[in-house]
Amino acid sequence: MPVCFDIGGTNIRSGWPDEVGIVQIAGQRATPGDSLADFLATMVDMVQQAPAAQQDFVAISIAGFADPQTGALTIANIPCLKGENLAGLLEARLNMPVVVVNDADCLALAETYAGAAKGAANVFAIVLGTGVGGGLVLNGELVVGVGGISGEWGHGPIVDPTAGGRVESLGYFQCGCGQKGCLDTVGGARGIENVHNALHNAERNAEQILDAWRAGDEAAALSVEVSTEMVARALSAFVNMLGPESIPVGGGLAHAKDLIALIDQKVRGMVLTTYELPLVVPAHNLKNAGLVGAAFINPTSGRPNKVRGVS
Ligand SMILES: [Zn+2]
Repeated sequence: MPVCFDIGGTNIRSGWPDEVGIVQIAGQRATPGDSLADFLATMVDMVQQAPAAQQDFVAISIAGFADPQTGALTIANIPCLKGENLAGLLEARLNMPVVVVNDADCLALAETYAGAAKGAANVFAIVLGTGVGGGLVLNGELVVGVGGISGEWGHGPIVDPTAGGRVESLGYFQCGCGQKGCLDTVGGARGIENVHNALHNAERNAEQILDAWRAGDEAAALSVEVSTEMVARALSAFVNMLGPESIPVGGGLAHAKDLIALIDQKVRGMVLTTYELPLVVPAHNLKNAGLVGAAFINPTSGRPNKVRGVS
């Protein structure tokens, strides 16, 4: 069984599956962001605190991408790991296999095997947090693409700045990936804020905009309509391409069940097939997706593109 890690810019959390596969948080340390030596020492220490029976391999969920060929990490919020082969460095110190998987991909594994999409073969799990991300399971297996990229529907300049003619034009917002017009700039919490600011010249945070929408505020309602329309239009094309049985939503906006229901209603009205039941649904693993998903990473392939079979 694995020692599981969820590594973010602020904290490193560890845990391991119990006899029924549930992962609880067992350890938590501040992330040493600037020193690779400190980072590795912290990880080794946390692994050694796990029961010996768990120490078959290390499964890591991280807010970045590991190149499947070289292990080199693309990561924004932990500077000391940029370009490093984290799996290789840890394997040399721990003498056990280490697998590193993107956190949205771990959400997809968690929801497929222990969440809202349990029993489904094809799952596109999406993240609506500060930005927009996603992870893809096809035929029960995590898809890990070239350079570790897959499921990243938030990037690529696809946005229609009129939201299907609902507004004259929002223009294009600059994205962190370097392009303008990515869904990431209009779809997550920051995206709703961008849209609201552009439409109404009013700076409010996403939570305030959603609360105003619920209270019947017309300006907020237009912002929510425009943002969800853009998300649904993009998502409908992915539904037609992938044929998913479920689209669980993680990230901070997943708590806004009414917002997710609105996106679901729009998407189901745009796709080629008929979904009788909600397709876009809140994920079940909203707090622990990284740890729970990491428990379903298969270590034997040496590459994070196979998941352990679960009956
Ligand atoms: Zn982008």
